[in-house]
Amino acid sequence: MTRLRAGSATDVGLVRSTNQDQLLVASPLFAVADGMGGHAAGEVASRVAVEALESAFEHLGVVTAAGLGEAARAANRAVWEQAQTDPELRGMGTTLVAIALVNGEGEDEVAIVNVGDSRAYRLRDGQLEQLTVDHSLVQELVAEGRLGEDEVAYHPQRHVLTRALGVDPDVAVDVLETRPAEGDRYLLCSDGLIREVGDDQVASVLRRLDDPGDAARELVQQAREHGGADNITVVIVDVTGDGGADRVDAGAGNPTGAVTTPEPFAPENGAEQKGTAPSHKSRLGMHRRRRGEADSGRPRARFITLRVVVFLAVFAAMLAIAAGAIWWYARGSYFVGLSGNQVTIFRGRPGGLMWFQPTVAQRTPVTTADVLPYHIADLRAGQPEATLGAARAYVQRLESEYSQASSG
Ligand code: MN
Repeated sequence: MTRLRAGSATDVGLVRSTNQDQLLVASPLFAVADGMGGHAAGEVASRVAVEALESAFEHLGVVTAAGLGEAARAANRAVWEQAQTDPELRGMGTTLVAIALVNGEGEDEVAIVNVGDSRAYRLRDGQLEQLTVDHSLVQELVAEGRLGEDEVAYHPQRHVLTRALGVDPDVAVDVLETRPAEGDRYLLCSDGLIREVGDDQVASVLRRLDDPGDAARELVQQAREHGGADNITVVIVDVTGDGGADRVDAGAGNPTGAVTTPEPFAPENGAEQKGTAPSHKSRLGMHRRRRGEADSGRPRARFITLRVVVFLAVFAAMLAIAAGAIWWYARGSYFVGLSGNQVTIFRGRPGGLMWFQPTVAQRTPVTTADVLPYHIADLRAGQPEATLGAARAYVQRLESEYSQASSG
């Protein structure tokens, strides 16, 4: 019989103002969700996801890996439906990584589901192994060989998810199954841990601290010491040996449930990826959402609203540049024309341009009677000049030509 022992810790970190992560320790089900959304939306998304996951899991007839996957999809629907009820919540989303002890054809099995970039790891025989694959843009670039693993941490788009819970009515859920073995230690965590603490350091803590609660708290503390730029959440689930009561310790030694199954656990088969591949739509990035950067407590505000704001700002800037160019063209020059029979210097374009009508820059004492007749048509049409000085010079030429013609 497989016994589980769990510990957990979560912390807002040093930069964010709210903790939008959520954890679930409800043996034999454990989860971490990292919500994204403006104002309270991120917290709502992760809380709704975890509650719906737990509820759906409890209502499973036979608890299997596929059932856990269905529970994750139910959680997705719950978040999505909640998001439709309130404009403030629209577009909210969350990651979800969950682990459960399930029935695999009569034997105990560990099932893991994942959507997003929270992660599940397993420490076995002292070796730490990442079990889940992030649904993130950088992960796709790595998979395609276009980005090295070492470049991921600094990539400007490292926060961009390709899949999240609650963004669409349905979501593809990765489902993994593996056999539990005594001594296995599973780690669920949000990206706030991974971004601050390297895998080697995580492994070192998991090897050193036997109590899962102590290890979880130590990992959170280390993430804080490395900057704590994001919310940090850690759930550790140990597979313990037989004997003793069928009891599950949650964190500080509170028994919260029992796990009994008839068969002893089988040797490890390795995690087997059974999940649905990312949909074509998500490959194209239509589900991509910008994750919160480290310097804000309102990640979701950037995730959708920022995109709109940036678009509007760029659009407004383009409009301003266009308007400036038109203004410069329309108003930045002069022409000599007629106001009644009086030769007048106007600012603007003859006849105006769009909403910029010409204005009188300078009236002159010269009338049509003082101008040679062949200039009258030009004056009626408007004689463009680049500057006010050039316009005045043109008027002076009109006068001098007339006086020369009159005296000649
Ligand atoms: Mn996070």
